[in-house]
Amino acid sequence: MTIFKKILDGEIPAEVVHDDTDCLAFRDVNPQAPVHILVIPKKEIANLADTEPEDQRLLGHLLLKVAEVARSQGLDKEGYRVVVNTGRNGGQSVDHLHFHVLGGRSLGWPPG
Ligand code: AMP
Repeated sequence: MTIFKKILDGEIPAEVVHDDTDCLAFRDVNPQAPVHILVIPKKEIANLADTEPEDQRLLGHLLLKVAEVARSQGLDKEGYRVVVNTGRNGGQSVDHLHFHVLGGRSLGWPPG
């Protein structure tokens, strides 16, 4: 079981900023920017590479919530970054699909 599943099951606490039937958004425990939030589906999907056509509605919902969470944190005016680390080369460390929402400072590019 992943650490995010434990958060979904209430076994591990998290600072939740959004909760609905399909997804949960909470603050990253090791923030890489002044605002760093993770948006995750409640459905157990390992990563973006594991998604299927039947996930189309869910993926649309997640992206809309990413934008909504960013707006609620006041990031929409100055901008922000959405990151989906996928697999080993992508730097993914938790095998449960998640969207990083990073903002509150100017972010460098390209990533390392
Ligand atoms: P990734 O490396 O893309 O898989 O991202 C996993 C993220 O989960 C990292 O940014 C971690 O800091 C974050 N993380 C790990 N455990 C927790 C936790 N218990 N609560 C909140 N964020 C976590």
